[in-house]
Amino acid sequence: MKTPYPKLVQMYQDKNCKLLSTEEEILEMYNKQVRKTIGNIKLKFIAQCGHENNVAYAPFYQNSGLLCKSCKIKEMTENAKI
Ligand SMILES: [Zn+2]
Repeated sequence: MKTPYPKLVQMYQDKNCKLLSTEEEILEMYNKQVRKTIGNIKLKFIAQCGHENNVAYAPFYQNSGLLCKSCKIKEMTENAKI
């Protein structure tokens, strides 16, 4: 199996994030999977807030995890105040 690694890197860049997982790491996780779905592989990346985050590729593609968990919670509590 060949990962669409350059595409993944580009996708994270397009969302102002930086992919940290290497192609080898992704392949390794992929090979461990029973179902062999790349969308469920958790990738490490620098989120828009500048912190490290770890979200599977599929939800990230749908704009989940653009902020790390603690920044997301902060954002939600700040929005709740308004
Ligand atoms: Zn953050």
